[in-house]
Amino acid sequence: MGEAKKVLVIGGGFSGMSAAIMLARGGIETDLVEIDAGWRSYGAGISLHGATLRVFAELGILDAFKATGAATDGLVVRMPHNDEVIVTIPTPPMPGTGLPGNAAIMRPALAAILAEATRAAGVSVRLGCSFETLAQDEAGVDVTFTDGSGARYDAVIGADGLYSRTRAMLMPDAPCPEYVGQAVWRAEMATPEGIETLNMWLGEGLKVGINPVSHGRSYMFVTEDRPTNDWVEASDLLRQMTALLDRFPSPILTGVQEGLSADSKLIYRPLEKMLLPQPWHAGRVMLIGDAVHATTPHLGAGACIGMEDGLVIAEELLRADTVAEAFAAHEARRWERCSMVVNNSARLSEIEVTGGDQQEHNAIMGRSMMALGAPV
Ligand SMILES: Cc1cc2nc3c(=O)[nH]c(=O)nc-3n(C[C@H](O)[C@H](O)[C@H](O)COP(=O)(O)OP(=O)(O)OC[C@H]3O[C@@H](n4cnc5c(N)ncnc54)[C@H](O)[C@@H]3O)c2cc1C
Repeated sequence: MGEAKKVLVIGGGFSGMSAAIMLARGGIETDLVEIDAGWRSYGAGISLHGATLRVFAELGILDAFKATGAATDGLVVRMPHNDEVIVTIPTPPMPGTGLPGNAAIMRPALAAILAEATRAAGVSVRLGCSFETLAQDEAGVDVTFTDGSGARYDAVIGADGLYSRTRAMLMPDAPCPEYVGQAVWRAEMATPEGIETLNMWLGEGLKVGINPVSHGRSYMFVTEDRPTNDWVEASDLLRQMTALLDRFPSPILTGVQEGLSADSKLIYRPLEKMLLPQPWHAGRVMLIGDAVHATTPHLGAGACIGMEDGLVIAEELLRADTVAEAFAAHEARRWERCSMVVNNSARLSEIEVTGGDQQEHNAIMGRSMMALGAPV
């Protein structure tokens, strides 16, 4: 073990939990503070693929995922008016996972699996708690917490998401999250007949996907071009989402539309992106996950690269003699991959919004998936 003997992780999302699990397993004393007292994850499905399953294998949660989530084979693209299959795109399996290359799970289920692994690894978790101040010197970081306590750490990892307070405090000039002109509507439902893996319907200004998340259940996402970043009242979600599906009168989607109700876990989210130029650290504090590279979901890879960050920063802190060396090695390993995901996802979004070249869209998808399969 190197210089880092005691580390604080700020934020118990997918990225922070992954870092904390691997740090604690490596023998580093690890504290995690999560601002949400309920440690909740909102109830939408999340699409995963081979590279994410490879992360699960490293975290030792693949069996728990298999018991709760769904791994399926391929991506089927259909016509929006009659469900005719246009193309079936293979999703090659990732070696070492023993599972097909497409997958999905409900977010709360994945969060619960990771939370259990975090506690089992021996991480000291404090919920409903955040940091108040961070004061660094040559040898460590003094942190005060909102519960009135304080402690000194060799390194701090800020994994507090897109609107990171850690980033705001340390890097006040960082770029702000940017709305990309699209929003996503999501719902959970019984898997429609005929759906065995991720299916998508592409239309003008609208893209629908249905992805199985567990035995018999699926989640649907509807990506809508929306020039303005509007707020949608919860009471109006069902009406607006149902109306959007009018534009796709295929038998499968008509059936889905008829089954939608206020119990379908309807969620609306505008899409934002943010890529912080490196360095991603200030002194002994390193930012990971959405705090430095928030992507739109066009490649379904935001959680994947955030969790990979967690694995890599832990590996480097365990390997390097000094925190500074570990941070330099982490940034060198992560830039190309994370910026590829953010930039390529943003380009896919732009092509959709501007009605651009579908060939370019397909080519970027293919290239990106190949790149995600490469070793981390
Ligand atoms: C609409 C949409 C769909 C998406 N779909 C997919 C998908 O299908 N597949 C995929 O891989 N990715 C997807 N993503 C991206 C993915 O959700 C994110 O990349 C991922 O959740 C980032 O995890 P994170 O842990 O870095 O940040 P977050 O999930 O934001 O977690 C941050 C955590 O920090 C906590 N926190 C915040 N502030 C503080 C503080 N001051 N102190 C302590 N704790 C704090 C929060 O409560 C939270 O628990 C999607 C994103 C969006 C917006």
